[in-house]
This record gives sequence, C-alpha cells and structure tokens, in this order.
Amino acid sequence: MLTKVVDQAKIDHFAKWIERAENIVIVSHVSPDGDAIGSSLGLWHFLDDMDKAVTVIVPNAFPDFLKWMPGSRDVLLYDRHKEYADKLIAGADIVCCLDFNALKRIDDMGSAVAASHARKVMVDHHPYPENICDITISHPEISSTSELVFRLICRMGYFSDIAKEGAECIYTGMMTDTGGFTYNSNSQEIYFIISELLSKGIDKDEIYRKVYNTYSESRLRLMGYVLSNMNVYPGYGAALISLTKEEQSKFDYIKGDSEGFVNIPLSIKNVCFSCFLREDTEKAMIKISLRSVGKFPCNKFAADFFNGGGHLNASGGEFFGSMSEAMEIFEKGLEKYKKLLND
Ligand code: 5GP
Ligand code: MN
Repeated sequence: MLTKVVDQAKIDHFAKWIERAENIVIVSHVSPDGDAIGSSLGLWHFLDDMDKAVTVIVPNAFPDFLKWMPGSRDVLLYDRHKEYADKLIAGADIVCCLDFNALKRIDDMGSAVAASHARKVMVDHHPYPENICDITISHPEISSTSELVFRLICRMGYFSDIAKEGAECIYTGMMTDTGGFTYNSNSQEIYFIISELLSKGIDKDEIYRKVYNTYSESRLRLMGYVLSNMNVYPGYGAALISLTKEEQSKFDYIKGDSEGFVNIPLSIKNVCFSCFLREDTEKAMIKISLRSVGKFPCNKFAADFFNGGGHLNASGGEFFGSMSEAMEIFEKGLEKYKKLLND
C-alpha cells in the first residue's frame, strides 16, 4: 500500500477537470531529461487512452537515449513548431506543468503558458514552487515527478488503466532521477511502485540498457578526455570537470553526450561535491551542473553563484561569461562554503 502523499482535495479537483476536458497540453522543462519526458509521456499515455486530445510540448530537443520511449515521436518541440504549439497552449482546457517549479524553466514557452486561459496544474518535486497554477502538487520529498504521476493516476482510481507503454515511461523517469536507484531512492514505496509497474509487463533491465548502454564510441572517448582534465580540490571534498565548445566539436558532441558526467567525480573517495561546466552550443553561456552526496546544499550554491537552483543534491544554473571566469567563481564558492563542505 502507498501512503497518501498527495492531498485528496487536489486529486478530486484534478479528476473533475479531466472528466470535462477535451484538449489537454502537457509541458515540461528546457533540455528535458528522463523524468521530464517520462512523467509527461506517462501522463500522456493515460490521457490518450481516455480519448482526450493531448499533446506533450517541451521547449527544445531531448537526448537520443530517450527516443525509444513509446510516444516520444509525438512530443512537440516548441523551438521548432512555435506557432502550432502556441495555438495548442492557448486553446487547451488544461495545461499540466510537469517537473518544473518556475516559468523561466520553460524558456520562451513561459509567456504562452502564462497567457493561456486553460486551467493549470503543476505536478513537480522541486522546492519553492512558483504560484503559477490553479492546483499545485509539489512534493520535494518524492524523488521524481514520474513517481508523482503514478501516484496521481492511482489515487484517481485508474491503476488498472495504466498500460505497459505508460508504465515504461514512468519507470524511466523514476530510474533516471535517482541515477538508476543509487540516490534519493531509499523510500520503500519506490520499490512497491516498481513492483506495480512490473505487473504491467515492463522489462526494467532492458529499460536500463536502452537508457544507459546505447551511447556512441565518441561519447565514451569524450568522457575519458573530460575526466583526464578534472580538477580535484581535496581540501574541500570537491571536484570540477569542464567542456568547451571547441572540445565538443572535436568529439562530435551531440545533445545528451555529457549526460551523467557530473556524477562521475563523486565516485572518488571523499569527494562529496561535483561541478560540471559546459559551454552551451545554442546560447552564449555556460551551463552549470552540480551534484552532492549527503547534506551539502547544491541548490544554495547554484542560487548563490550561478543564478540557478534545484534540489539539495542535484542542481544547476547558468553563467554568462568565460569558462575561466566560471571556474574562478566556483573556486570562490568553495572557499565560502568550506566549512559546510568539510562537515
Ligand atoms: P542538470 O544538472 O541535470 O541539468 O540539472 C539538475 C537539476 O538542477 C534539475 O533537475 C533542476 O532542478 C536544476 N536546474 C538545472 N539547471 C537549472 C537552472 O538553470 N535554474 C534552476 N533554477 N534550476 C536548474
Ligand atoms: Mn525530475
């Protein structure tokens, strides 16, 4: 049995909306990850099976290793189909905001969502949700939005309507947001849910292989290169890796190739805080990814120095400047947080 995490009144409210709605749009965050696509498609399959006209729209492309997911071909990319997407968002009865807590996380799509007269629901697990939806289902204690989507569907009384395809998407989001159940994954209920998803016929071992073991040769060589240039800061229990645009082109970099890199330095004994700086190929900025183990608040560090945020152990931000400036700022940050890092 699952604990009733989500407030009953919110579930009843959402269920009523769905009964009456015809056109539903599901939106998720920029540079969508496994949980963004997994939760969106998990909900999409459920609503699609209910014969609703439902579309998933994300701000930009998602990595190849998620493209096997059932329904992923129907995901609309806002940066390529803005006009059509704007129409759908404006004409929707419901907009579901999944896996993000603030409008700026959906880039240019934010103004279309804000302007839409649709009823809006947020289903998310990032702390400090903005008040942008009529129903806010925000649970930072839950490790993935996909898990929340599963809970939501079940609590509305539709567990039996979850099909294998939807279950695969939900499982993928739960798996990727916990690094294959290696962090934020001690809740017993996660494994109860996995057992329920297995009852739908999913092959969890195959999903793992499809997500984590389908990279290109050049991606593995890039990983070796990035790691060989890693900076380790033993006095702070920290490490930093970086990737410039020039280096990306040397290794035929494609979107998603550096996914997971930021976690690798955490496998060094006594390294509890890891930073990955990557020059963006689309915007003139450096994308920052931060990860920690234990109590070190990555999200505070990201907010303090890189105009970002996120979870305690996984956060990110952006920096407009050069790689060496970003490194300097990171090192200043280490000094400021030295005490916490050594706790
Ligand atoms: P990643 O390192 O995988 O890009 O992001 C990890 C987490 O950090 C995301 O799930 C999200 O919560 C947060 N995050 C990443 N980039 C940003 C950003 O630019 N701004 C904010 N507020 N959060 C971010
Ligand atoms: Mn997530």
